[in-house]
Amino acid sequence: MSQPKTKDHAALAEAFIKDEERVDWHDGALWYIREKRDIASKAIPEWEELREAASQIKSNVISNLHKYLLQFEANLKKNGIVVHWADTPEEHNEIVYAILKAKEITQMVKSKSMLTEECGLNEYLEERGIGVINSDLGEYIQQIDNEPPSHIVLPCIHKRKEEIGELFHEHLGTEKGLSDPTQLTRVARKHLRNVFMTRRAALTGVNFAVAETGEYVVCTNEGNADMGAHLSEVQIASMGLEKIIPQKKHLGVFLRLLARSATGQPITIYSSHYKKPRQGQEMHLILVNAGRTRQLGRPDFQNSLKCIKCGACMNTCPVYRKSGGLSYHNTISGPIGAILAPNLDMKRHADLPFASTLCGSCSNVCPVKINIHDQLYKWRQVIVKEGHATSTKALGMKAMAWTLSSPEKLDKAGRAGRWFMQNIPVVVNNKLNPWYKQRDMPEGPKESFSEWYIKNEKNKPK
Ligand code: SF4
Repeated sequence: MSQPKTKDHAALAEAFIKDEERVDWHDGALWYIREKRDIASKAIPEWEELREAASQIKSNVISNLHKYLLQFEANLKKNGIVVHWADTPEEHNEIVYAILKAKEITQMVKSKSMLTEECGLNEYLEERGIGVINSDLGEYIQQIDNEPPSHIVLPCIHKRKEEIGELFHEHLGTEKGLSDPTQLTRVARKHLRNVFMTRRAALTGVNFAVAETGEYVVCTNEGNADMGAHLSEVQIASMGLEKIIPQKKHLGVFLRLLARSATGQPITIYSSHYKKPRQGQEMHLILVNAGRTRQLGRPDFQNSLKCIKCGACMNTCPVYRKSGGLSYHNTISGPIGAILAPNLDMKRHADLPFASTLCGSCSNVCPVKINIHDQLYKWRQVIVKEGHATSTKALGMKAMAWTLSSPEKLDKAGRAGRWFMQNIPVVVNNKLNPWYKQRDMPEGPKESFSEWYIKNEKNKPK
């Protein structure tokens, strides 16, 4: 469930960048992963063909979603899996609660699922007396720190190992000052093992749902989804409608792209297929809409539903790397979050499409070829048109539209700007101008490019 918005991206980013050392290290860590992704992708000569194939398979899915979802539902039922449909996050949570309540289960283990974060499932269940433990190590760390994930693949990438050591000392009783990642992981593993052994219910996300067979695939590097699912008496999977792929053979395309794009690995350590309940087990799958069909109905933005949540667009984005995932105040952060969030609540997330340089690096790395930066640009236009831009931005846009409406106006505005920069610079270089806060403004040039061009080039003898 969405959290109340208190600040916009710029204000939250401003708080993040105050810790310069953290910004440098966060930036470097994500760039390192981006470079690993480059090496892994270049090792496959047919990488671009794979991207194209994935994009086309997803285009087919988007155009025939109703057909594949019904086929998937029929096959799930044939396999003995109970199917539920949830139109809203609240409906999703109610379904999970009803399943657990019917079995008198009060504790559940949950592997990584951004969808359940989006639905606010943990808080919902906890309010009703059901405890949830996140079993993905990064998500577990975020949970004990009472913070949402800042990255869809690397949930606590913004935290230093010393901060994690401090959290473990407080919550798991480790020695004060212990910050060695291997030792901390061992402690978490021991603790989580006990959780796995004692929980009767496990919930997982879904990476790919195969319509033709009624099976679904969950990819993890820790095996935590498998531990939960295999030991539980009730297994629940929550998936967004867009996770469908038509056939099993298509998995080969997506599994090759996913891990390479996410972390530069050839494949995730575990790619587990779930098809039917084992003897004595109950399996439920919840198909969740939560705004996805609304996005499907927006021709300019429906391609965003192709996303396979690899996180590559975040790792490459200069704004994300410098501002941190939590500054996006949305479950999915970074460039893809900035095109998904306005669909959920345009007013609340009106700032996000502006949190981009529009450099296009996100679109270049996206394994399913989503035109992310084009969509960011398009959202800006929609947001301004719908009246959701801040009054300063709306005024700025109007002034810019007027200035750019004729060469004469642009010329006059340029002259005025240059005059002010040369004679009364404080008009431009003041604290009200956010660009000036972190930058040294250059001296105003004596002439515009067109003046220089007329003087030097246009009148040159041919
Ligand atoms: S938009 Fe593309 S690059 Fe970004 S998370 Fe989704 S699939 Fe990965």
